[in-house]
Amino acid sequence: MAHNEAVDVVLVGAGIMSATLAVLLKELDPGLKLEVVELMDSGAAESSNPWNNAGTATPGCVS
Ligand SMILES: Cc1cc2nc3c(=O)[nH]c(=O)nc-3n(C[C@H](O)[C@H](O)[C@H](O)COP(=O)(O)OP(=O)(O)OC[C@H]3O[C@@H](n4cnc5c(N)ncnc54)[C@H](O)[C@@H]3O)c2cc1C
Repeated sequence: MAHNEAVDVVLVGAGIMSATLAVLLKELDPGLKLEVVELMDSGAAESSNPWNNAGTATPGCVS
């Protein structure tokens, strides 16, 4: 997406939290324009990468 294009929501970081929030926001309002900005060369390269966490899907109520 061009950097001068207006968006409704900017999600900082392409990890699981931004991915989840993006899906939820689109479910609520399919017309929303979202932009995800990421420092790394690809998404899910930090904690959300399966090699960087224990892979046990901790419920939110535990965290
Ligand atoms: C060792 C370890 C084990 C874990 N085990 C489990 C487990 O078993 N079960 C479980 O449910 N959870 C586990 N977790 C936690 C889970 O992995 C994280 O809570 C989850 O991945 C966090 O997702 P996130 O999207 O918030 O962050 P991240 O996946 O870290 O994504 C954040 C993104 O933001 C980017 N970013 C940061 N700053 C900027 C910036 N200024 N501009 C642009 N982009 C930026 C980063 O590059 C990164 O891609 C574990 C975590 C660790 C570290």
